Amino acid sequence: MLDAVNRALSRVPSAPLLRHDEDRGLHRVHAHPVTRLVERAMAQIAEDAAALLTGEMAGSLAQCAAAPCDRFLLRTHARRHWCSTRCGDRVRASRAYARKQESAARS
Ligand SMILES: [Zn+2]
Repeated sequence: MLDAVNRALSRVPSAPLLRHDEDRGLHRVHAHPVTRLVERAMAQIAEDAAALLTGEMAGSLAQCAAAPCDRFLLRTHARRHWCSTRCGDRVRASRAYARKQESAARS
């Protein structure tokens, strides 16, 4: 019976399998056939994404404000607009360059 349950559970890559041993009795383990590692990894990523999109942090998700970056970030404080310091530095450098060009055009 354990094999039948585990065959069915293996079809859901993120579902922990059922094991039995003398010490622990019935318990769940995250062990799947090595032939399904990619499916298991993709299922775990999808599960994490779904949990993030519907969890208490969902309201903090924001798209990076540094075009053309298409990443998302968790806005941990109101002034956070970029996914990384690299994107922030790129926006600040762009603004500084634009200011420099503007002042050069005036003089
Ligand atoms: Zn970014």
